[in-house]
Amino acid sequence: MPYKRKKYHRGDTHLKKGWRTKRRTKDLDEIDEDLKEENVEKLLNQEVDFDKPGAAQHYCVHCARHFINETALRTHFTTKVHKRRLKALELRPYSIEESEQAAGKGSYVAPQKRKIETVTRENFEKEHADEPNAKMMKIDE
Ligand SMILES: [Zn+2]
Repeated sequence: MPYKRKKYHRGDTHLKKGWRTKRRTKDLDEIDEDLKEENVEKLLNQEVDFDKPGAAQHYCVHCARHFINETALRTHFTTKVHKRRLKALELRPYSIEESEQAAGKGSYVAPQKRKIETVTRENFEKEHADEPNAKMMKIDE
C-alpha cells in the first residue's frame, strides 16, 4: 500500500496536538480541585524534588507547571498562556451535579463566573498570615 501522504483537510495537521502526552498537564477540572485552599498550600510548598524543574519549588497552580526559578515563574505570570488560563478557570467546570440539575433534578443554577487571581507563595501566605495567630490568641484566653 502506498504511504498515505494526502491530508484530508488543511486544518488536520494540529488535530493530534491535543492528544500528545509529552507536555500534557492536568485538565481544568483537576486544576479546579487544586485551587482549593488546602491543596494550594500543598502545591505551593512542595518537597524538594530534583526530578522536577527547579526542584519543584516554583509552581504555577493554574497551569500545573513547574518553573526553574522565581524569575521564570514571575515572567510566566505575565504571559498570554497564563492569563488565558486564568480566564478559562473563571467558569466553574462542568459537573455531574450540574448535568443532573439541568435535567430537572433539583434547581438549576447557571455556572457563575468567579474572580481568579494568580496565587503565588507570597500572596497566599499574606492572605493567611493572621489566621493561625488569631486562633492561637483565642486559645490563650
Ligand atoms: Zn500559569
